[in-house]
Amino acid sequence: MTESGKLYIVATPIGNLSDITQRALQILQDVDVIAAEDTRHSGKLLSHFGIQTRMFALHDHNEKQKAQVLVDEIKAGKSIALISDAGTPLISDPGYNLVNIARSQDVDVHPIPGPSAVITALSAAGLPTDKFLFAGFLPVKQQARLGELEKYKNAEFTTVFYESPRRVLDTLQYIQQALGEDREVVLAKELTKHFESFVKGTPGHIIDWLKADKDRQQGEMVVILSPNKQDLALSPEAELLLKTLMTELPTKKAAAITAQIHGLKKNDLYKLALTWQE
Ligand code: SAM
Repeated sequence: MTESGKLYIVATPIGNLSDITQRALQILQDVDVIAAEDTRHSGKLLSHFGIQTRMFALHDHNEKQKAQVLVDEIKAGKSIALISDAGTPLISDPGYNLVNIARSQDVDVHPIPGPSAVITALSAAGLPTDKFLFAGFLPVKQQARLGELEKYKNAEFTTVFYESPRRVLDTLQYIQQALGEDREVVLAKELTKHFESFVKGTPGHIIDWLKADKDRQQGEMVVILSPNKQDLALSPEAELLLKTLMTELPTKKAAAITAQIHGLKKNDLYKLALTWQE
């Protein structure tokens, strides 16, 4: 299944080992070398699936220096798979230098898709997913973290970031400070694992939930911020018209007609109508 002279970027589970794909297993079995962020950690995954492929350590500290070595091996005909400790490589994980160098030297790079905590969290959080920003990890320094969060105050899109259990309480307090007490937030924890949980509500609600039990402050977490709600002042007549038209027409058309009749922006009406359908 694998071809020589190729680099495969292979996603692995973020908790539940059954989430590995058949294609991932086949590739990991067939390649000449697996470049792994932490060979001991990934060794456990590979031995669980009976895979004995040779491993090579490629992590943040040696990636720049070793990427060319791996690319040279691929050019010499070897096939290499890159994996990270969990989820999709390069998504807040090493691999960017390797893929960048490989592509710049015309080496074929193939993604083998699978889990990633950002998409897994978004898919079940119940917040708008039509437009979102993945912000990775927020800065560790408190002032910088607050500054970063302030950028999302007026965001018209959902914002997702990874957070460490050590910082999550502070971060939620900063969210409350920067985005206001009413902003809807989702904390997605331990995804695909036994204690998976989604907590949705105001920052204050999530802070109370975390404080109620110290164990809740452990584990892997994703934080999702809802978009800033559009404060569109809609007269009762305009609202009635839009809702009535929506029963007979596509939402876009209904929004356009209402906008024309009431002198409003059709995009604003369309966005509002979408929130009614969520
Ligand atoms: N490459 C990974 C991916 O595709 O999701 C992310 C790696 S990043 C170093 C690790 C962070 O991802 C964790 O600190 C946590 O914020 C998030 N994460 C990973 N697995 C998770 C899980 N099972 N549940 C919730 N968050 C998770």
